[in-house]
Amino acid sequence: MPITATEKIWMDGDLLPWGEARVHVLTHSLHYGGGVFEGIRAYPTERGVSVFRLRDHIRRLLASARVLMMNVPYSADQLVSATKQVVRENGLDQGCYIRPIIFLGYGEMGLNPLPCGVTVAIAAWPWGTYLGDEGVKSGIRVKVSSWQRHDPNAMPTAAKITGMYVNSSLAKAEAIKAGYDEAILLAPDGKVSECTGENVFAVKSGRLVTPPISQAGALSGITLDSVQMIARDLGYDVAFEAMVRSDLYLADEAFLTGTAAEVVPIREVDDRVVGDGLPGPVTTRIQAEYFAAVRGEIDRYKDWLDLVD
Ligand code: PMP
Repeated sequence: MPITATEKIWMDGDLLPWGEARVHVLTHSLHYGGGVFEGIRAYPTERGVSVFRLRDHIRRLLASARVLMMNVPYSADQLVSATKQVVRENGLDQGCYIRPIIFLGYGEMGLNPLPCGVTVAIAAWPWGTYLGDEGVKSGIRVKVSSWQRHDPNAMPTAAKITGMYVNSSLAKAEAIKAGYDEAILLAPDGKVSECTGENVFAVKSGRLVTPPISQAGALSGITLDSVQMIARDLGYDVAFEAMVRSDLYLADEAFLTGTAAEVVPIREVDDRVVGDGLPGPVTTRIQAEYFAAVRGEIDRYKDWLDLVD
């Protein structure tokens, strides 16, 4: 999924030309992984391009920074308007992916992060669905990883910290090399946690189940939250319940959720066909509602949209 360069990147209050948003090789977070970030999407709607649940993403970004005790010199309101500015100034009317990152910059070395200066950047570019159009349509094949999700006393799993994604990258590479599309990670207690950059749901007898976020060491996904609301509005029960890998093998349907991936059916887990191997009726219905909601086609979910203009 190559990055398509756009014109400008917001960095510490300025809109810089894309190629000039650079960092020094001795940037603290590059060495120690102590940055926090978000993945956000904007979609075209009838009323113009709109950022999906922007305030919720900025809230989670600042919460991640708080976990790392970073002093962020911008308020949530400032980051919301900076994000809209990036979408607007790059002319991304047809929608885009937005990547804000807060990191510790150049000037200090050593493991104490506290004296380090904090840099904030926001980039945006057009980006197709993360697991591919075919994955969204027909489903993907996943593998339970040999890599384990973080123990919450080794890494604060509620925060979206750059260094934590080494774990996700190891699992992703393992899955791809073994011929799968995505990995499922288990928590240290052996229960299902989440995917490398997505939450996971199983559907059994018309009921949706997803792992309990904190106990499972999963990220509190904003897509997960949107999907659970959509599912409840459609009349389905949604439960946060511990699950083991065989719960996924024996589900009627399974799917994953994430901002980049959106809503993607899972057709196989560890070479076991889930259900009849096709996107199931519950998944398909929820997926269609989600795609309509993000594009502003459902009145009830209008509050989730933050118009750029
Ligand atoms: N889990 C992990 C590890 C992630 O990186 C993401 C993507 N941010 C998610 C779940 C899904 O979160 P969201 O729906 O907010 O994008």
